[in-house]
Amino acid sequence: MKNTTKWDLVDLICPHTCRGCGELGAVLCERCKKYILDEHVEICPICKKIVAETKESVQKVRMVNLEGENKFCEGCDSPFEMCWVVGWREGALAKVIKDFKYQSVRAAGGVLAELVDMVLPRDFSDMTVVPLPTIGRHVRERGLDHTKILARKLAKMRNWRVDMALARATDTVQVGTNAVKRKSQADSTYDVVKKLDPEGRYLLIDDIWTTGATMQAAAKRMREAGAKKIYGVVLAIGRPGE
Ligand SMILES: [Zn+2]
Ligand SMILES: [Zn+2]
Repeated sequence: MKNTTKWDLVDLICPHTCRGCGELGAVLCERCKKYILDEHVEICPICKKIVAETKESVQKVRMVNLEGENKFCEGCDSPFEMCWVVGWREGALAKVIKDFKYQSVRAAGGVLAELVDMVLPRDFSDMTVVPLPTIGRHVRERGLDHTKILARKLAKMRNWRVDMALARATDTVQVGTNAVKRKSQADSTYDVVKKLDPEGRYLLIDDIWTTGATMQAAAKRMREAGAKKIYGVVLAIGRPGE
């Protein structure tokens, strides 16, 4: 039995329990969803310095990142126009992500896409969603490409398109490419494999921001390939010092 089929069945047979409080019914209950989203600290995702607090709560974060000038904070450059995160990598959010990635709980993917939709500005229009490519081996092991699924769900909600514009350089077949190109492939994790629209707006999406190295590398490659407006969104970020 394929993974997906097996887990679809589990989804069907076992009623969901909230990963935050255990309440029966959904992967994440409304209260716990609100708890995750009700966080209003903006931090620099590189140095994790607090950039702005828009509400009283300081212990928790809702939206990471920072606007304009391609800077995360005074000291940290950013290849993104803007960048967001749903929350800290902990508690209910971390559990839902884990269930989605490693247990392939489909309903978890739906909830995560919903959370991403809620942290992004309402007035964003005409965006092309680009999922960060998952390592091919992981997709085969897990039976699903979770970042791609997330991108598709989000795009559907917003009436955007998905473009698999990036590929992992190590997954790329290098037959026939010249030595210079080969070197540049080896130098970077990602290759741009589609023609990018210089006027287009691209939203890179990934699950976890650890150091942000992969997201930044991907954004830089897309800039080199001609994209000018690149945004980013991730599900969770580690707390300072993690
Ligand atoms: Zn709950
Ligand atoms: Zn910083």
